[in-house]
Amino acid sequence: AQAALFQSQKMEAVGQLTGGIAHDFNNLLTIIVNNLDLLTRSATDPRDKRLIDSAQRAADRGAKLTQQLLAFSRRQPLQPELNNPNSLIAAFEPVLHRACGEAIDLRLSLGSGLKSVNVDGSQFETSLLNLVVNARDAMGNGGTITITTGNLTLTPEEGATRQVEPGDYICVTVRDTGEGMSSDTVSRAFEPFFTTKEIGKGTGLGLSQVYGFVNQSGGHIGIDSVPGEGTTITMLLPAQDGEEETETPSGDEHQIRQT
Ligand code: ADP
Repeated sequence: AQAALFQSQKMEAVGQLTGGIAHDFNNLLTIIVNNLDLLTRSATDPRDKRLIDSAQRAADRGAKLTQQLLAFSRRQPLQPELNNPNSLIAAFEPVLHRACGEAIDLRLSLGSGLKSVNVDGSQFETSLLNLVVNARDAMGNGGTITITTGNLTLTPEEGATRQVEPGDYICVTVRDTGEGMSSDTVSRAFEPFFTTKEIGKGTGLGLSQVYGFVNQSGGHIGIDSVPGEGTTITMLLPAQDGEEETETPSGDEHQIRQT
């Protein structure tokens, strides 16, 4: 229990620091992006256009990074809506499939009668994409990624074991058959800028965004990883009462169709 408390206090402190930086940085980026937009309109020389275009792409990348930081530090206003995770995942399926590429078998196992959650749909999608990209990166020679959803009711005893409040949750897990994480990596994985990837490949902001989203949605996130075997990331999001999905999916595991 002590370790968990320390972790959340640490994350709170890191969140405040990065949130301040990201907020100021975002304001500066807005000026840069607006000025570049004005320049593109008046530029006629092809070389100038190329330079502006390249600066615009860099600014877009910077904007994405600050968005992730803001999400982590909970400074980004979320737009929670009643959403069914199964519908969100189904609508996002083509993007996830493209992110995985050919060598990876992406499977969905969507539980039937899934309750709804009150979350920001676009942050949910970004979280899912970040988890799937990490899973892909952990499987150099291909493998299987399985996204599973289900209803989960935690009794007070079960809640105490997992160190979360008892109650009704939606459980979304992303499981891979990749290289897994060392215990040191597990304990630092949610920290912003923590990455074990090569320079240029990882920013260390993916899991921070997911952590921020889940935390801000009143949920919990956990990592279960075995080096050499794979990783399972579990998101628990508070379920909303009486909002079961009417159209129940089969519940069978099925391979994502190519689109
Ligand atoms: P990034 O992916 O840019 O490195 P993240 O915050 O998403 O940043 O992840 C931080 C680190 O956690 C990764 O560099 C990697 O070491 C580890 N990690 C995250 N997801 C997985 C996974 N599914 N399998 C193995 N390691 C992972």
